[in-house]
Amino acid sequence: MAKSAPSGPVIVLAIIIGSIFYFANWIYQNPLNIIYVILALAVIIALIRIYSSPFHYPYFEHTFDVSGKRKPNIEKLIDEYLIEKRFDEIKLHEQNIQKWKSQCIEMIEQSRFHKIRQRQYDECLDDAHCYQFKLIRQKTRYQQRNYVKQSYKVNVTDSSYSCNYNYLHSRYSKLYSINFEAPLVDYAAKEQRNLMTKELREKIARRDNYTCQICGKYMPDGVGLHIDHIVPVSKGGKSVPSNLQVLCSKCNMSKSNK
Ligand SMILES: [Zn+2]
Repeated sequence: MAKSAPSGPVIVLAIIIGSIFYFANWIYQNPLNIIYVILALAVIIALIRIYSSPFHYPYFEHTFDVSGKRKPNIEKLIDEYLIEKRFDEIKLHEQNIQKWKSQCIEMIEQSRFHKIRQRQYDECLDDAHCYQFKLIRQKTRYQQRNYVKQSYKVNVTDSSYSCNYNYLHSRYSKLYSINFEAPLVDYAAKEQRNLMTKELREKIARRDNYTCQICGKYMPDGVGLHIDHIVPVSKGGKSVPSNLQVLCSKCNMSKSNK
């Protein structure tokens, strides 16, 4: 059997111990050498301080708990946030950002490393993604202890979304104009449902000859006759003849269960 070669960690340890001895001997030979070491360390620390950015962009962060929601709609969540909390937090944060920016600019002007600081500041600016919204879900996990199953909860990030101030401001203005009645998607859906007048229903029933457009059931007396939005209002479908059709109750039910 061949002798096993020294393993990696042993070699590294030998090199470290060797260099410590070499270094100690070097200082022992001429104690002035310690001054060079201190100077070199000072230069390294100064360089690190110059080249590491002192700027940290102040992001706005908000978390939505979407546990139990199957397909959370981020725009709707933001609208609900704006309806509940209005615009105060956002406005305050925007003011803080402006304050932070003017402090940074002042600092750059006073700095001896003007160009480096300016570049670091420009790199750290991120107005387009300033407002960050995170969707989290509480998930139940299990562990075994002494043969007993125990459950505990963890937060799992579902997705995240970021936008700029103008986006939030324009949503807020739109919500304001409808008196914070409902999230904009719901409001649009409500408007579309209001457009479903008796006249429009009759017009579609006549156009489709009182016949279910899926199974062909004929309902001349109008019993069980439904007017269906082909693209649902909740998904932005409009109450216009091209998006409407006659369905029987059975087909309407199986469609909405999909
Ligand atoms: Zn049918």
